[in-house]
Amino acid sequence: MTSPGPIAEGWAREDLEALSAKGLARVLEPLDSPQGAEVRLGDARLINFSSNDYLGLAASPAVRAAAASALERYGVGTGASRLVVGDMVPHQELEARLARFERAPAVRLFNSGYAANTGILPALVGPGDAVFSDALNHASLVDGCRLSRARVVVYPHADAGALARALADTPARRKLVVTDSVFSMDGDVAPLEALVEACEAHGAALMVDEAHATGVLGARGAGLCEALGLEARVDLRMGTLSKALGGLGAYVATSRAVADLLVSRARPFVYSTALPAALCAAASCAVDLVEHDPALRERLWGHIHRFTEGLRALGLPAEARSAIFPVILGEPARAMDAAKRLREAGLLVKAIRPPTVPEGTSRLRFCLSAAHSADHIDLALEALRRVGVSRVPAP
Ligand code: PMP
Repeated sequence: MTSPGPIAEGWAREDLEALSAKGLARVLEPLDSPQGAEVRLGDARLINFSSNDYLGLAASPAVRAAAASALERYGVGTGASRLVVGDMVPHQELEARLARFERAPAVRLFNSGYAANTGILPALVGPGDAVFSDALNHASLVDGCRLSRARVVVYPHADAGALARALADTPARRKLVVTDSVFSMDGDVAPLEALVEACEAHGAALMVDEAHATGVLGARGAGLCEALGLEARVDLRMGTLSKALGGLGAYVATSRAVADLLVSRARPFVYSTALPAALCAAASCAVDLVEHDPALRERLWGHIHRFTEGLRALGLPAEARSAIFPVILGEPARAMDAAKRLREAGLLVKAIRPPTVPEGTSRLRFCLSAAHSADHIDLALEALRRVGVSRVPAP
């Protein structure tokens, strides 16, 4: 085999060595099973605490059947972007289904949450405008802010007072505030009521990323905005199809005009091949399950409360706010060592390191799912007790 591109290879080797020296090199580990409470990894069967499949829908028989029937009817690929010839009936059906679920005038689909966030922000703001972004927002929002070329003002995490002051002090043509609703690496929740008030007081628009709240929060599972009755006061509510909805893709619930503008302006929408029809049909089915079967969400919340109490009993700080529980350990090596020991005890829980989280806050990130049983939760707590995570020494 000849080595392709020796120049780039040299750059890559140099950078990989630097990453390894800091304990920050990353490797892939392929599962040989669907997502679910238990997964197969190599020869091991592990209890899965790292998936965002919060309701266990990624392998649901009903969702699979919906995907299979659309796959049969529409084939695999979509051949072009939706504006060219890739738009199919399941895309339109899913947008209409999501608009009913979100009680929104319009919904626009994207191929992923990353594509949505990097597409929406530059479509709405640019030079002369300002975006106000929570310090712990997801990387896709950070990148959307950068791509927009608007002035970016990062406000301290979940600090609505600081946001209000920044809004007052920053002159700009348009002001757009962006925040995660459930923060992806900490599992805490944005102070949405106060953020809405700050936006209203300063004529700013608000965009909320509900990626980890869709299907988890709200009486109908539509997210934090629904839970707080704030749907009509938030300009853009973005959600993903890739987490509690068990598939792939994302959407924004918004006004008709914004949804129409995104068709012409959002570059990931305009210049990327449309989502496969099978994934759209799967998502429509998943939305039906989320909206009409609160039992799934209730089961998840039962686990969230059980795990919270169990962590506290182990002396670890925990709050029942979402399905995400960080166990913060500090340096990358400590988090990696704890993940390794838990793996030996039968748990798949990944260590999260910088730059995904700030320096000094490497952690284990536990994600709970309705696919788990109460026994799975208890086994995780027992493994944490045996491994003594809070006492894991730096190797
Ligand atoms: N927003 C948040 C808050 C996320 O956590 C993620 C992904 N984990 C995304 C957006 C991106 O979504 P996707 O994986 O569908 O690209």
